[in-house]
Amino acid sequence: MSTLSNSSALEQMYQQVIMDHARAAKGRGLVDLDLPNIGESHQVNTTCGDEIRLRVGLEGERVASVSWEGQGCSISQASVSVLHELVEGEDTAEAQKAMDAFRDLMQSRGEALDDDREDLLGDATAFVGVGKYPARIKCAMLGWMAFKDALIQARKEQS
Ligand code: ZN
Repeated sequence: MSTLSNSSALEQMYQQVIMDHARAAKGRGLVDLDLPNIGESHQVNTTCGDEIRLRVGLEGERVASVSWEGQGCSISQASVSVLHELVEGEDTAEAQKAMDAFRDLMQSRGEALDDDREDLLGDATAFVGVGKYPARIKCAMLGWMAFKDALIQARKEQS
């Protein structure tokens, strides 16, 4: 098998992962939380028309809940679904690692990351091809930006 057909088979698999997440997005539907530290962020990507409102609930340093509502392209909706899967239930340090790795993936211009970071990202690795299209990076990053901002808001309430 040539390198070319290998890479297109991989791209097709990645495409499938993104479509599956877009179709059955995880964490969709804002959850009412009874926690002392709740943060919310609303992000809009005007160039594509994507919109995400995301809510985070912290229990100490644990990301106890991540829920969201939104609309837009498959990439934006799938990306926040993957984010939900990766960070809910993790501690904030682990969530930060995932955020850093995903940002690196988006800045890699379509090149794969090292195995450690790919393991960390799981399904989010499927977005590697998006890094080749600067206009779509905004779509993929939208939910992650909302999460980062909501986390800051949630921490503010602590004081
Ligand atoms: Zn979009």
